[in-house]
Amino acid sequence: MHPLPDWDNLTFSLTETDWLYRAFGDSEKSPVWEAGRFVRFEDIPVSPAASFVSYGLGIFEGLKAQKTADGRILLFRPDKNAERFQKSAEYLLMAPYPVETFIEACEEVVRRNLRFVPPPDKGSFYVRPLQHAVQPQLGLAPCHVFSVTIFGSPVGGYFAGKVDPGGRIGGGVEGGVRLRVLEQGRVAAGGTGNAKAMGNYAGGIARAYKWKKAGFDDVLHLDARHVRYVTETSGSNVFLRRKDGVIVTPPLDDQILAGVTRDSVIQVARKLLGCTVEERPLSIEETIEDGEELFCTGTAWTVQSVREIVFRDKAYTFDSNETQKELKEKIRGIQTGEAPDPFGWTHEVKTA
Ligand code: PMP
Repeated sequence: MHPLPDWDNLTFSLTETDWLYRAFGDSEKSPVWEAGRFVRFEDIPVSPAASFVSYGLGIFEGLKAQKTADGRILLFRPDKNAERFQKSAEYLLMAPYPVETFIEACEEVVRRNLRFVPPPDKGSFYVRPLQHAVQPQLGLAPCHVFSVTIFGSPVGGYFAGKVDPGGRIGGGVEGGVRLRVLEQGRVAAGGTGNAKAMGNYAGGIARAYKWKKAGFDDVLHLDARHVRYVTETSGSNVFLRRKDGVIVTPPLDDQILAGVTRDSVIQVARKLLGCTVEERPLSIEETIEDGEELFCTGTAWTVQSVREIVFRDKAYTFDSNETQKELKEKIRGIQTGEAPDPFGWTHEVKTA
């Protein structure tokens, strides 16, 4: 039995839990997917020649479950993650995992690890679904044998208690994070940026690490084609509130991941706060000249205010975080069951 974490000091880091889900599929068989099963949280056997080991032929997801004050457990929009999991798989020529099975498996991962779901207000239970091409194969070619693995971990805030490589404690502070603008795409133009593919993240670690050592919380990528338009940080979508009140976020294209939080923020801003939200290219010049408030969205990041960006060695500060706060509070209310859920986004995990 793995020990429980200290509920009062949760950070965004791994706590090994009790059970994980595994399922295997072969797109040359019918049905493609075998029934999944639960095994102890432990190392999983893998061929050294499995395609994902050499070539990164794999995808992942991230979604959260939240315990409510009255003891229920709510998953947030698991259907959206299930659909994106399918799209990401198809992008890499892998068999899509059925949406219903994905949702049921995520629910069961929560149920089987119930003692690891943090008390309300202490954190959330992060569910991490993975799909890998496990077929042993030497050459670069599509695969037909896959595994789906789903595990979970209790987590706290993404920036909570984070000490960066420069020894600075920080990030996610009241005033917001500091981002270094990179004149470099997160992903290639015409590449896999709209899939949650392993390969999109490997190179990002070193890029972000370099700037974290210099005191930044993360990087903000411009697009790879024009090197002019704001795209994403290393793991979140980006929104700007202009001085005229209009909210702008980059449109979904080959370099933007269709964030579940992004979609939720757009809907909450439009329908609950009455804001105008435009999905259109957002240049770095417009961000600097017309921006009043900058914020990032993601399952792990939640709705995170940006205090400052540094572009070509000049710092630009965003003094407001009004809209970010309102949006974060609205979304948190829905996720924790404290507020009504007019969109039907929460999905209760029945435990009795
Ligand atoms: N962009 C990237 C590159 C990400 O990795 C993530 C995290 N999944 C997001 C955006 C935000 O997506 P979501 O809101 O679905 O977590």
